[in-house]
Amino acid sequence: MPDSPRSPDRRPLVALPASHEMVRELPRMRTNQAYSDAVAQAGGIPLLVPPVPDEAAALAVLAAVDALVLTGGEDVDPALYGRPRRPETEPPDHDRDRSERFLLLAARELGRPVLAICRGMQLTNAVLGGTLVQHLPVERPDALLHREQGPRRELVHAADVEPGSRLHEAIGVERLQVNSLHHQGIDDVAPGLRITARAEDGAVEALESTDPDWWLVGVQWHPEELTWRPEPFHRRLFEALFAIANERGRVAAT
Ligand code: MN
Repeated sequence: MPDSPRSPDRRPLVALPASHEMVRELPRMRTNQAYSDAVAQAGGIPLLVPPVPDEAAALAVLAAVDALVLTGGEDVDPALYGRPRRPETEPPDHDRDRSERFLLLAARELGRPVLAICRGMQLTNAVLGGTLVQHLPVERPDALLHREQGPRRELVHAADVEPGSRLHEAIGVERLQVNSLHHQGIDDVAPGLRITARAEDGAVEALESTDPDWWLVGVQWHPEELTWRPEPFHRRLFEALFAIANERGRVAAT
């Protein structure tokens, strides 16, 4: 296939933003290995990215990779969506919020596909002009147990998927069982995003970009923890990201 911009064995490079953590009394950069394992298992090459300081650095990173996976973690700073911080909301990591905002906007500018997981989806919504529920048990007392802590690989509730959405196209089913490890959620949806999956209590379980030229899918659950399951839905999310990356990524652009 001489016309193909990418040989079949060329695997997409995938940026995975790292977060800070004190480990054995030293500040370290880290992410859960489940993310890099899921990327590698689906055929990508994961690249851990420490926080970038500015827009130019984010554009350089996104120019060098094929796709971005925004990972889970700390609560997003409510100042990003113009609300005072509730007592249940974790203290913000300004460095990480700022960096991931630059990375997300650079991905949009360069048309790189994005899979935004848990905090990643919430950050995306906040950066693009939406708002978050800061503590579901208080602000949505009738909500299901979405559970902040608990076994990460356990299926907790169902999610109903919008037919015809990118999410539906990626996973191929209209209902699936998901894990749930969040105490925050989506409140107002940002312009340019739409809801593509909900839990039975109405909680937003997936968002995606309405821009036909920018593949961005956000999920509230943690597919990277479920790639071991016999059903293929969670692996398919990563595979869909890489299929788009092969069309829209770094190599295809050259
Ligand atoms: Mn949930």
